[in-house]
Amino acid sequence: MNETVLKPGVECVDIALGERSYQIRIGSGLIGTDSSFDDLAVGQSALIVSNETVAPLYLKRLEAALGTLHSRVQNVVLPDGEAHKHWATLNQIFDKLLERQCDRKTVLYALGGGVVGDMTGFAAACYMRGVPFVQVPTTLLAQVDSSVGGKTGINHPLGKNMIGAFYQPLRVICDLDTLSTLPARELSAGMAEVIKYGPIADMTFFEWIEANIGDLMARDAKALALAVKRSCEIKAWVVGQDERESGLRAILNFGHTFGHAIEAGMGYGSWLHGEAVGCGMVMAGRLSHSLGLIDQEFLRRLESLIGKAGLPVVAPVLDARDNVGRYMDLMHVDKKAEGGAIRFVVIDGPGRARLQAVPDDLVAEVITRSCAT
Ligand code: NAD
Ligand code: MG
Repeated sequence: MNETVLKPGVECVDIALGERSYQIRIGSGLIGTDSSFDDLAVGQSALIVSNETVAPLYLKRLEAALGTLHSRVQNVVLPDGEAHKHWATLNQIFDKLLERQCDRKTVLYALGGGVVGDMTGFAAACYMRGVPFVQVPTTLLAQVDSSVGGKTGINHPLGKNMIGAFYQPLRVICDLDTLSTLPARELSAGMAEVIKYGPIADMTFFEWIEANIGDLMARDAKALALAVKRSCEIKAWVVGQDERESGLRAILNFGHTFGHAIEAGMGYGSWLHGEAVGCGMVMAGRLSHSLGLIDQEFLRRLESLIGKAGLPVVAPVLDARDNVGRYMDLMHVDKKAEGGAIRFVVIDGPGRARLQAVPDDLVAEVITRSCAT
């Protein structure tokens, strides 16, 4: 890919997946710039998928930029929220595509957070057995995590993200300006996934986040650009080696086994995913310490950073009578539990992670130490 065509100040990360390779572009003002979307093998028709919160903020800008590239730009505005990430909402995308007789060259643009991105990607994977799509993520979480790597899908009443496909976008456009309107809680939630990349893969990045957490939380554009870029590079490096999660990709779930238990146990929507992951990373850090893999000082730094990102570090009590039992039950049904012992992503020394089956008594002890009393 020729980087000289990029606007000054636009950062670029290449995702190397053979013929499914694509580029992530990161910068300010990208949504409204038609060159952000150049060089794509595009058809005449485009469908922007957004939601009722994001569309009033950014839809016009994107429509204007795409108007020079496609002769027909349409949109579908979905209801906002994880609760709508299901078949009926997905069908609204198919309804629009079919009503407007969109052909198999129609490009879908996902304008929104991870919910819109996951649904649009899945719709693109299915419509006419696959149409091209572009991710335009507008939350920090979507920019550093969900828009990269090709996992798409919807929820089923019996399980989150259970219906889906691996389907890579043509490009990811991360416009940092969109983060200015993000609610503070959502910024913190996204920061959990940014912080995650340090302990599992890159201690230099971890130290950089420690030094710059004030600027990041103040939404300093330069700091955010670097954080988004490095996060995408690390995710790209992991996904490039294990596109379909047969091994290494699992390390991206650091903090997520405890986190999923918190999310489910509190009732989905009560804690944001990133909040649960932040607290889950503290717990997984404690587990790593109990296993003798990291020292007390590193654990202290991890907890301190997560706190400075505005994330909870004290785990909630999920059941007043049998809290440990409740956590255990929830984690045993988590898809990473295989056989007897639950497998956790543990920090195998700062900057490195691996999956490990951990005896229940060690896990129970960490839960007891981590919960509010
Ligand atoms: P989200 O999409 O629900 O967005 C959070 C909230 O912010 C929503 O209300 C949204 O409308 C609003 N919003 C979005 N952009 C905004 C902006 N610029 N200004 C103001 N408000 C804005 O949540 P999310 O955290 O972005 O994504 C979570 C979803 O991503 C979950 O469904 C999760 O399963 C999925 N996910 C997928 C992957 C993957 O690999 N595909 C990875 C992680 C998470
Ligand atoms: Mg996550």
